[in-house]
Amino acid sequence: MTLTVLEPATERVLAELPRAGVEDADAAVARAKAAFGAWRAVSPPDRARLLHRLADSLQLRHEELAVLEARNAGKPIADARGELGMVVDTFRYYAAAPERALGDTIPVPGGIAMTFREPIGVVALITPWNFPLTIASWKLAPALAAGNTVVLKPAELTPLTALEFERIALEAGIPEGVVNVVAGPGSTAGARLVEHPDVAKVAFTGSTEVGRRIAAGAAQTIKRVTLELGGKSANVVFADADLQAAAAAAPSAVFGNAGQDCCARSRILVERSALDAFMEALEESVEALRVGDPLDEATQMGPLISAGQRETVASFVPPDAPVAIRGSAPDGPGYWFPPTVLCPVEPDDRAVREEIFGPVAVVVPFRDEAEAVALANDTIYGLSGSIWTRDGAKALRVARAVETGVLSINSNSSVRVATPFGGFKQSGYGRELGPHAVDHYTEVKTVYYAT
Ligand code: NAD
Repeated sequence: MTLTVLEPATERVLAELPRAGVEDADAAVARAKAAFGAWRAVSPPDRARLLHRLADSLQLRHEELAVLEARNAGKPIADARGELGMVVDTFRYYAAAPERALGDTIPVPGGIAMTFREPIGVVALITPWNFPLTIASWKLAPALAAGNTVVLKPAELTPLTALEFERIALEAGIPEGVVNVVAGPGSTAGARLVEHPDVAKVAFTGSTEVGRRIAAGAAQTIKRVTLELGGKSANVVFADADLQAAAAAAPSAVFGNAGQDCCARSRILVERSALDAFMEALEESVEALRVGDPLDEATQMGPLISAGQRETVASFVPPDAPVAIRGSAPDGPGYWFPPTVLCPVEPDDRAVREEIFGPVAVVVPFRDEAEAVALANDTIYGLSGSIWTRDGAKALRVARAVETGVLSINSNSSVRVATPFGGFKQSGYGRELGPHAVDHYTEVKTVYYAT
């Protein structure tokens, strides 16, 4: 059985690969289990050196990997370069972790208690197609730094950079069996990893629907689970904001990666008194967005990932949809969809409530601060969001009131290697990136020493 990998900008076949199934998942877990003892025993400075060497090798292959990611995921080459830069930075950041795996000493009667952070064992990493190697690196780097061995199952639509990564890791000196990639469907290879008794933890990024299934499946063997799931984030624009700046930044915050971004600020909430001025400025910036060939340096938005994804996105924009702004998109082959802004919309509209995962935004007016917070929180999700205002106290009040894991004020940027990332509510649990991610790849052990 083969796995046919397409290039979404041309609909041409990019690669034909063996399709991994249940037996391949079992074999990968067996390799990871066999490699665990020796990998956890590698001394902290040596493990740190190996992670730095891996970062060096990824840096050397940066351009090649960026082009592969741009072609396979249909993302603009400039974005792919930035993402691959983050992959390298993520390995460098967590290369410091082995030597900082600190424990506590706790005074207790009759002796001393101390804590150790132990690796968990074999960790399954299950990742989506929107930021393939980037999201994998957020899991790989802390998992390996903590001394675990891993089985990575990339999304079947975008497995190419993960397979390259497996080769690069070996070349960089990571011992055989420590990093294993299984390129196969979620329903077979993925589901097997979730139920496998020798997998100690599943770190998952993907849809909330599949996340629910993974949490339920992992419960059978009490696996540790972290979930990074969907979002429907609010971009709250107050009338006292720099409206030009907010409108200029809004398109990339929802149409970046063709809207296939869990952090997409796809609900733009605008204070009613500023609505007309904001919409005028927004129209200008949406129409200026360059949509086209991902390998063209000037491109800002590429195609959607697949024909199926385009069908799903199109279902949110039926012929009678209230389209206020529509950008451009190429004709011909490729899964293109123009950036689209819907307004006015009702709070119960599907486009307002569901994660669209495509270049479709809704604009919803609000009356005052209290209504802005209520609207922002009126969702099952809680991943990301933005607040635009010149009033610092209001910005902080709203930031504390919005139920979401990552927020930005007068900016739409909130994902950084050094800061925690993850969701509230049905956007998941656990945190990636930043100093705390390693905690999710270790167990705390307490040892009491009688004196
Ligand atoms: P998906 O949930 O369909 O698939 C994600 C991964 O899970 C894939 O590798 C898939 O093969 C696998 N999978 C599917 N069914 C499985 C099963 N039963 N058992 C085990 N594995 C299974 O998601 P997608 O369509 O690839 O990605 C889009 C979704 O991911 C969106 O909802 C988006 O918001 C979310 N996402 C979240 C984040 C975040 O960090 N919170 C980041 C990116 C994407």
